[in-house]
Amino acid sequence: MKKTAIIISSAVLSFATFASAQTTADQQKAMTPDSVLSELMAGNKRFTENKPTAKNVSDRISKTSTGQYPKAVILSCIDSRVPVEKVFDQGIGDIFVGRVAGNVENEDQLGSMEFATKLAGSKLVMVLGHTACGAIKGACDGAEMGNLTGLLQKIEPAVKAVDGYKPEERNSKNIEFVNKVVIKNVQQTVADIRKRSKVLAQLEQEGKIKIVGAIYDLKTGKVTLLP
Ligand SMILES: [Zn+2]
Repeated sequence: MKKTAIIISSAVLSFATFASAQTTADQQKAMTPDSVLSELMAGNKRFTENKPTAKNVSDRISKTSTGQYPKAVILSCIDSRVPVEKVFDQGIGDIFVGRVAGNVENEDQLGSMEFATKLAGSKLVMVLGHTACGAIKGACDGAEMGNLTGLLQKIEPAVKAVDGYKPEERNSKNIEFVNKVVIKNVQQTVADIRKRSKVLAQLEQEGKIKIVGAIYDLKTGKVTLLP
C-alpha cells in the first residue's frame, strides 16, 4: 500500500515537472495534432479542477528568450473572462493566441495562423468561442457603432444560419439562441479558415495540423470540442 502511494506520488511529480517546463524544439517535433489536442484538454481539466501546474515565470522568461516552439495557435474572443493560456493551463512559450471580439478570422489572423503552423511548427489550430459572448449578442441585435459595425457583420451569416426561432426570439435576450449562434459562428469560422487559407488547408490534408472548433463555458470553465 505504502509502495503504491510512493509510485503514484513520483509519477505525479514527474508529470508536474514535465508540464511546468516550456515546450522545446524536440518536443514540438515529436507532437502530433491529436497529442496537442489531448494536452490542451488535459490542461483544461486541471484548470476546471483548480489544479494548475506550478510554473516558474522567471525561469520561463529566461529559457524562452532565445526561441519559441509553441504547440498550437488559438483564435479566441477578447473577452476578459476567457484567459486562454490559463484556460488550458499553459505557460510562456507554449501557445500562440490571436484575439478579436467574436473570434472571427480575417486576413491578418489567417496570416498569423499560417506563420504559427507552417513557419513556427505548431500542430493545432483551434477556434475558441464562448457562451454568452457580447460580440455575438451584438450581432444578434444588429448593433451598429463605429468600426464595430463591420466586425459584427462578419458574425451575421452565423446569426442567419440558426433557424427554429420566431423573429421576436432572435435577439440577445434569448440566451439559448445566442449560444446556438456562438456554436454556429465557431463552426463557420473553422470552415472559412479552410476555404480562405490554402496554406492551412494543405497542411491539414497532409496530416501535419488539425483545425478544430471549441466552446468555453463561462459558468464552468470547461472547454467542449465541437463536431
Ligand atoms: Zn466574446
